[in-house]
Amino acid sequence: MQHLLQFRFGIRLPLILPVLAGGLILFSTSCKNDEDDIPEDCTGIHWEYEGEDGPSHWQDLCVGYLDCGGQEQSPIDIKGAADDNALESIVRHYNASTTHILNNGHTEQFTYDVGSDIEINGQTYKLLQFHFHTHSEHALEGKTYPMEIHLVHQNAATGNLAVIGVLFEEGQENPFLQQFITELPEQAESHFDSGDSYNISDVLPASDNYFTYSGSLTTPPCSEIVTWLVMEEPVLASTSQIQHFEELMHENYRPLQALNGRSVRHFH
Ligand SMILES: [Zn+2]
Repeated sequence: MQHLLQFRFGIRLPLILPVLAGGLILFSTSCKNDEDDIPEDCTGIHWEYEGEDGPSHWQDLCVGYLDCGGQEQSPIDIKGAADDNALESIVRHYNASTTHILNNGHTEQFTYDVGSDIEINGQTYKLLQFHFHTHSEHALEGKTYPMEIHLVHQNAATGNLAVIGVLFEEGQENPFLQQFITELPEQAESHFDSGDSYNISDVLPASDNYFTYSGSLTTPPCSEIVTWLVMEEPVLASTSQIQHFEELMHENYRPLQALNGRSVRHFH
């Protein structure tokens, strides 16, 4: 189910990147001619959130997962972030999308219709998909939250990703989540599709404040190609909404990773 076809050489040419979720499915191709290249095809390699195939072993499961042992991994505990006046707000161009939900065995992943993107740091990133983790992957000043959503965007030119993380706190029922709460596929590899449309902008908090740092996918292959944008203000969801996601996904969060000298910056 996890497909990774990737060859290491100077420049990667991602053809398609229906991204990851609980697993980024990274199809890359290479036009290489270097004999030293090692194929890193991890197709079908199983990984989990606990036990022998759990996070502390991911880098050993397949040579293509070596980045999981890297120095710029995610998630992290966001603390002591410095205000940076050079940062700009995230410019969002989000259109409505029809509904396509896949339970991929790791998360509930929503594929978003093409045509939505964000601009950040002068670059455009297209929204591909979003998915959920229970409990949160990122922590703020040591505090974890019951759920986190990841909005995965890709830069068409470089293949690099910009992922917006939004933390959920227990409180009032969340109207955005309520649109799908009875439609989330229960079985792994099952999906739900409908022409009903919704807009991802409705899940974002009122405040534009965010933290940003350079990190990775939080699932194998843990590629260090992600500009993380973690919103400072959590949004609310009811206990029963969060419990429902947790029943379907179980504990699907990667433990906190070392900062290793990286800086975390704060936009406000
Ligand atoms: Zn994620």
